[in-house]
Amino acid sequence: MRKKLSLPDSIYRGRFSPSPTGPLHFGSLVAAVGSYLDAKHHHGIWLVRMEDLDVPRCVPGAADDILHTLGIFGLQSDEPVLYQSQRTEAYKEALRRLQAIDAVYPCACTRKEIADSALHGIEGHVYPSTCRNGISQGREARAWRARTDQYPSPFPLPPSPIEFNDALQGRITQHLESEIGDFVVKRADGLFSYQLAVVVDDAFQGITHVVRGADLLASTPRQIYLQQLLELPTPAYMHLPVAVDAQGEKLSKQTLAQPVENNNAASTLFDALVFLHQQPPVKLGQNTVEQILEWAIANWQPDALLNCSNRCPSSKLENTSN
Ligand SMILES: [Zn+2]
Repeated sequence: MRKKLSLPDSIYRGRFSPSPTGPLHFGSLVAAVGSYLDAKHHHGIWLVRMEDLDVPRCVPGAADDILHTLGIFGLQSDEPVLYQSQRTEAYKEALRRLQAIDAVYPCACTRKEIADSALHGIEGHVYPSTCRNGISQGREARAWRARTDQYPSPFPLPPSPIEFNDALQGRITQHLESEIGDFVVKRADGLFSYQLAVVVDDAFQGITHVVRGADLLASTPRQIYLQQLLELPTPAYMHLPVAVDAQGEKLSKQTLAQPVENNNAASTLFDALVFLHQQPPVKLGQNTVEQILEWAIANWQPDALLNCSNRCPSSKLENTSN
């Protein structure tokens, strides 16, 4: 009998990309575990990328601290960790390519001018495209923005709106121009934007599957748009429910989420599986981290999250964060 031909599972390359702005909290651990299990269930490669681009927000020592915590949970990057702070040349090159096709333009507006905009979108004020046709005389370019209107050929126009299928959230449609507006790819402080960096790095690392928190769902169309402009492949996306506290707020340092404790890793990992609706057998909680991961990889069932809204409170969670 002939062996059935199919794509090798090893083609799967996933990643977890934390920002080193503090210790790992439960919400980030859930995203790490979800991306790891999805990669390993498909016999794939799992990578860690440190999103340390926003230097002013980075906390010294936090990157090492996060990697140490991930290690305690058995989550090891299969390749050396990529640091965005060391990738400036690649982002510069991407910006040059966008400039060459007139997909970006310099913007002289101040934060206050943008805040005065009467246009509102899904992330607050929509930039009113003031500088799209050139900045007024005597004003200095501060940032670079990607234009979201249909700009002149010869380059193929990205479809408007941006649409994609999310493995858990379904069909997502976003009208970039009206819902987001021309967005920043290089900030007034000289730093490259998250949106540009993540697109360049996903392509550089050959990422085929992005599994991350649903708090990044609204960013995805901007990333797909940049992928199209830069002629980069679009990975498959799965946005996991975001861990929220009892008040329904996303867990982050701002909501005083407790850092993940390293001394009770097996029990915390068990909680993460419960949060991800994986229904681990109660007895599994008494096993080692390695044994729990082994069970979770073999039994990974992301479809269990299909009927969960993208903000998914967990009663288990209230216990761990108290
Ligand atoms: Zn402007």
